[in-house]
Amino acid sequence: MKTIGLIGGMSWESSAVYYEYINKKVRALKGGFHSCKSIMVSVDFAEIERLQHENNWKMLTKLMVNAAKQLEIAGADILVLCTNTMHLCSDEIIKNISIPFLHIAEATGKEIVQKNIKKVALIGTKFTMEKDFYKQILTHQFGIEVLIPTTEERQLIHDIIYNELVVGKIENKSKTIYKTIISNLEKRGAKGVILGCTEIPLLISNTDVNIPIFNTTKIHAEKAVEWALRNN
Ligand code: GLU
Repeated sequence: MKTIGLIGGMSWESSAVYYEYINKKVRALKGGFHSCKSIMVSVDFAEIERLQHENNWKMLTKLMVNAAKQLEIAGADILVLCTNTMHLCSDEIIKNISIPFLHIAEATGKEIVQKNIKKVALIGTKFTMEKDFYKQILTHQFGIEVLIPTTEERQLIHDIIYNELVVGKIENKSKTIYKTIISNLEKRGAKGVILGCTEIPLLISNTDVNIPIFNTTKIHAEKAVEWALRNN
């Protein structure tokens, strides 16, 4: 088994879930006492959140590249960045390491194609929904049409992530807001919805919505394990 390197802490609420998923997947595939070989570099999210909202992507990229290098030096065989948003820095990360980088949008795109879905909704932070770095992979690499919520809906989704989910608050009224937005996206033609923020699965699950969900935390973590076991 290869060693998975995880950049976590964005937020730790979802990094903890990554840790659980990678270990559960190894147990499911190998059984017995097996668990996942992994190393995590976990950052301070207060610093990340401040820089994101100051739009300081230069400094954020530097922090991500440093964390990636730390993991490579520590012996990681593959790199997993445990957040959708921070994949905005992925090009620079890839340039600065020599181990493979498992992109969360690519992992998710493969899953969507397997389910034969051509039109999906994407919910996540405003960075993920509004900038191109994520949608373009789904569209150009996988031929998937991506719908995003309206301006007002995007703000609501973003605020719930930063004011509640990343600090561990799970509120029923926020669940209702998300369910309404997802149902609006379904009416606009979405055949599935990408939970494109690693904390959203803490709030929304399959049973809450009518269309298939793509849980990026689970997909990303499990694809990393499949790689680690395949490349023995
Ligand atoms: N974990 C979230 C994501 O997947 C948001 C927090 C962050 O900005 O990294 O996008």
